[in-house]
Amino acid sequence: MIPIDPIEPIDVDEVAAWHDTADVVVVGLGCAGACAAIEAAEAGASVLALEAAAMGGGTSALSGGLIYLGGGTPVQEACGFEDSPENMAAFLRAACGPGVDEAKLAAYCAGSVGHFHWLVDHGVPFEARYHPEHDREPPDTSGLVFSGGEDAWPWNEVATPAARGHHPAHADAAGGFLMARLLEAVAAAGVRRQHDTEVDRLVVDGGRVVGVECRIAGERRHVRAARGVVLAAGGFTFNRPMVEAHCAPLLRCNVPIGTPHDDGRAIRMAMGAGAEVANLDRIEVGIPFAPPRSIVRGIVVNGAGKRFINEDTYAGRLGHAFLTEQDGRVFMVHSDDTFAVNIAGYKPRWVAETAAELEVEIGLPPGRLQATLDAYNAAAERGEDPAFHKAPEFVIPLRPPYGVVDLSVDRSWYASFTLGGLVTDPDGVAAPGLHAAGRTTVGLAVGGYVSGISLGDGTYFGRRAGRAAATS
Ligand SMILES: Cc1cc2nc3c(=O)[nH]c(=O)nc-3n(C[C@H](O)[C@H](O)[C@H](O)COP(=O)(O)OP(=O)(O)OC[C@H]3O[C@@H](n4cnc5c(N)ncnc54)[C@H](O)[C@@H]3O)c2cc1C
Repeated sequence: MIPIDPIEPIDVDEVAAWHDTADVVVVGLGCAGACAAIEAAEAGASVLALEAAAMGGGTSALSGGLIYLGGGTPVQEACGFEDSPENMAAFLRAACGPGVDEAKLAAYCAGSVGHFHWLVDHGVPFEARYHPEHDREPPDTSGLVFSGGEDAWPWNEVATPAARGHHPAHADAAGGFLMARLLEAVAAAGVRRQHDTEVDRLVVDGGRVVGVECRIAGERRHVRAARGVVLAAGGFTFNRPMVEAHCAPLLRCNVPIGTPHDDGRAIRMAMGAGAEVANLDRIEVGIPFAPPRSIVRGIVVNGAGKRFINEDTYAGRLGHAFLTEQDGRVFMVHSDDTFAVNIAGYKPRWVAETAAELEVEIGLPPGRLQATLDAYNAAAERGEDPAFHKAPEFVIPLRPPYGVVDLSVDRSWYASFTLGGLVTDPDGVAAPGLHAAGRTTVGLAVGGYVSGISLGDGTYFGRRAGRAAATS
């Protein structure tokens, strides 16, 4: 594996003059940076936010806006879901693991209800209305969805299922709305902002980060951070050499998630200042399954014609398994009475009267799809799925003619982004004088993923990083 090339910091002695000074300098104004800036300012620090793009928002503003919150939020309670921090932690430990950072997990789950109120207090409203379709933002202003497979096997045996995908009160994708509200709060907190400003390097004094070097309108400038720097500059999805070296399967996905500023520069700058990195090989892989949820009545088979997962699990778990465990070769078999055109417009690529014909047309080993259908249908007659425990409401025998959707990675919609980054503690400490949050860091999702956890842990740990920087 090619090591990442750290960006060496410059020594404070090389700084001829400081162009600007603030107690806390925040790099990047996505969800993590905005929350860090607000908290730092509310803790009494003077804050300067430096943003590479012409306006703040980052990938967060392009997102669906789902925020993973639980433990008994007012929206959960009003919608009839019982939850507790312990129940939430049990689920996230399993779904986002293995290897979830226990200190961050405990802090996040214990702080989740408080974080909900903080978001509301800072202008992000939620309606107490549950939307029954899973895994993506509701088309209306409903405030709550299942967004991680909580009610599907195997997670429904790990924790009591509770919906936790909190959707700000804005129809459909709410990321732009969320960021507009958070950036209003940034302004209200008195944070100074400098756009079109790309931070290139850190400045150190005796091993402690004391500022940044940046380009403002092409001019090289140095900005002093009297108390600390917070890096919240996204991941490395758009740094092709880094992705090739560490998580090459991402390159097979036709939709890289992020902006060109997800270039890994912040991660490399922090490494140069002594920060550690981890999980650079981990990626999230999303596929558009529901709506309608009924699409999961079909069965998914791999290149050997075998089922390998319950189709009603979280779409991100499906996508990850399709790509990383099945080499991106996956097919979904339907009957006339189970098929429904879904949000991505899935259409059958093959239609046939017999499994044997499909095996030839698709190139599956002879007899294998037939065997899979025979076993599935025999149990489905009883409304059961002993192999993968799909919920009975979706278990229907599949009868000819069959239609098969090609869900292979080179034929279907796969979206992906990086999960690896800087190792931080719950207060975002990455190195002396240096804090970080959001996709620049290793978040809660390390093995698996749930929708809403990026905005969730980005906003929560962004706040913690901002406050810690302000008070250090
Ligand atoms: C279509 C889509 C839907 C999604 N839906 C969801 C969802 O519903 N829920 C969820 O949790 N996640 C979702 N995600 C993922 C989520 O949006 C991101 O993982 C998350 O927003 C990352 O937040 P961040 O603050 O770490 O980074 P960003 O929001 O990308 O912010 C980083 C900022 O840093 C700036 N920057 C970068 N480098 C520099 C530099 N050197 N100097 C100065 N500034 C710099 C960037 O310009 C950017 O503004 C979605 C993503 C997409 C694209």
